[in-house]
Amino acid sequence: MDARAKLLRSRETLRVALLASEDWQPSYKRDLKTFKALLAGEARLETVTAEYLVGLDQRAPAYVDWSRLPTHVVADAGPVLNNDDAAWKREQTLLTAALLDIITELVATGASAGENLYGIPVGFTTLDEAILVAARTQVAQLVSQVTTTTRDLIRESIQQSIATGEDQAAAVARLSRVINNPVRAELIAHTESVNAYQTGLFNFGKATGAVSKTWDGLAGACKLCGPLIGKTVKIDADFPGGYPHPSRHPRCRCGLIYNYE
Ligand SMILES: [Zn+2]
Repeated sequence: MDARAKLLRSRETLRVALLASEDWQPSYKRDLKTFKALLAGEARLETVTAEYLVGLDQRAPAYVDWSRLPTHVVADAGPVLNNDDAAWKREQTLLTAALLDIITELVATGASAGENLYGIPVGFTTLDEAILVAARTQVAQLVSQVTTTTRDLIRESIQQSIATGEDQAAAVARLSRVINNPVRAELIAHTESVNAYQTGLFNFGKATGAVSKTWDGLAGACKLCGPLIGKTVKIDADFPGGYPHPSRHPRCRCGLIYNYE
């Protein structure tokens, strides 16, 4: 393990302690083994996402046609490479490679949590087809969103450089601040770890014949999800607002309880 990897690992250990102190709904903590795995997965997800953004920061200036500054700014694409450019395909491949294993583990963790919480052993692992498919689907959506947002961020950064009359060096520095943003990595890890875990738990619920699910609100914690707390819907139905399970908003720590007949 090189020095940077060591540093990142020790930072992750600290993150796990911090994450554990957040307002998780009680259903997460009822099985400590999978709760710990969830926290470790979230911390790891944050690291790899942040590391991806560090790399993207190095590559991003190459995605801008600097010769078109400052006079030519086309409203839609601007000087940023088009969506179908091979460079963005490469970015998608890189990000998918960074995320897929961790998301797969988090989905499997959610499924295992179900087994332990409800005492119904199914034997879910990261090798099950349902887990693999769910993880790949989530990662594909996430990667597509992240790439779209990245292009928007680059475009906006360039527009700001043009508006403020910056030269290319200043514009590259501005772009770097926008791309290499640890808060973005943290937000992605927060939201997507809960998504993956809850997807796994849903897979467990389906596999074991749960009939309905209830928004977990024993602590009345999440303010934004307040109106949903205690609501029950059929297993395949969405909760009001179109959500099959948490997370429902950035940093959502809500959970679900599955009901059997
Ligand atoms: Zn919530």
